Amino acid sequence: MIYLDNASTTQINETILDAFLKLLKKYYANESSSHASGIEVSNLAQLAKEKLLEVLKIKDYKVLYTSGATEANNIFLKGIIKAYPNRGKKIITSKLEHPSVLRSLESLAGEEGEIVYVNLQKDGQIDYEHLKTIIDDNTLLVCLMAVNNEVGTITDIKKIHSIIASYPKVFFFSDVTQAIGKVDIDYNLLDGFSFSAHKIHGIKGSGALIIKKNLILQPLIDGGLQQYGLHSGTINSPSNIVLTKTVRLACENIETNLINLRKVVKPLIDYVSTNPLMVLNSDKINPYIVNFSLTQHKASIIVQSLANSDIMVSSLSACSAKTDDYSYVINNIYGDLHRASNAVRVSLSKDTTIDEIKHFIQAIDKILKETRKTNEQ
Ligand code: PMP
Repeated sequence: MIYLDNASTTQINETILDAFLKLLKKYYANESSSHASGIEVSNLAQLAKEKLLEVLKIKDYKVLYTSGATEANNIFLKGIIKAYPNRGKKIITSKLEHPSVLRSLESLAGEEGEIVYVNLQKDGQIDYEHLKTIIDDNTLLVCLMAVNNEVGTITDIKKIHSIIASYPKVFFFSDVTQAIGKVDIDYNLLDGFSFSAHKIHGIKGSGALIIKKNLILQPLIDGGLQQYGLHSGTINSPSNIVLTKTVRLACENIETNLINLRKVVKPLIDYVSTNPLMVLNSDKINPYIVNFSLTQHKASIIVQSLANSDIMVSSLSACSAKTDDYSYVINNIYGDLHRASNAVRVSLSKDTTIDEIKHFIQAIDKILKETRKTNEQ
């Protein structure tokens, strides 16, 4: 099998799985219990948390473990607006955010919040000049993802931070799910961020919301007040502890991986850029995601044919595949429903090889020719 759907999820790393299983077997006590076994797990968990912050090169932040980025985004966005009712109503975001952000914010629009969408540039970058014109003293939060999950656009976190700097009361939150371990980010510039372990070869159902220590959130669920009262329920210590190793391994060789993957992905970019049956939707900068639309074929059929040849790619992100028949991200960037309905996303992991990419190119080329022949008969 050739697996090129890594933006959707990744294969578990064996050493992470081994570490997780060991923890699960040995450290099964509840870390909130006051007996010796509970304290032992609690100490391990505390160490893992401190190490995680160290790996991310941040201090004075608190780690809230979640089931993934969806939950983290909900907890942050709904929690912050309720925690700071008098600080400003405006929340600035973009129409390219993940559904867990867009829908959380939509649920707050009205009495609680005023949601304002920053304009997009032609290539899917946010329009930084527009951001400058919409941010004001009534702004509570700027919420912009670090890397888009469909087209791979990398947001300039530094630039946004410098724009926000003139408004010290504005919080800056970023969903870094597709960025962590892939592109370099200065997490110190953020008041909060979210991610999932399974996008970086970790455990499914594990992730984190990391926020500045002094930031408060209103809890969404009631219970035993675990995790600062923001995530009540028995703590999943083995998953949480192993998240540190997951992030550490992912962040080990960011630059080298990028340099290598740019070479790996080049034949695909060249192929798409010169193929009259295709139009590139991604901006060539992030080698982890190549997104293109088919101009004369139905993408869902081609993606299915590729799967029949044991090559896995997506036509829509897995998060939208159940509800939409087109990509709202591509439609919002290009305003072209046909293009948005026929997109193919090829997403790489740091381990993807040039042979796999060449195999994919050959396979899609053959399928497109055969499918065209079928149409012409
Ligand atoms: N944000 C982004 C940018 C994502 O790519 C995803 C996963 N598709 C999520 C949030 C949600 O992650 P999870 O499904 O693990 O909660």
